Amino acid sequence: MSSPDPARRRGSHCAVCGKPATPAHAPFCSQGCRDRDLLQWLGEGYRIPARPAVDEDEEG
Ligand SMILES: [Zn+2]
Repeated sequence: MSSPDPARRRGSHCAVCGKPATPAHAPFCSQGCRDRDLLQWLGEGYRIPARPAVDEDEEG
């Protein structure tokens, strides 16, 4: 049993959602997952402080 499975030609799956990657967006399945991965990658280097919308609620 050494026949190559068509579904596992390259064994490349989207690292974001796990779907089979497409040649157009390899190694991801879609542009959306590509952006997601990029954002995550950027998030590791650039920690953007998530500041909540603060309304003018100062006393004084
Ligand atoms: Zn995906």
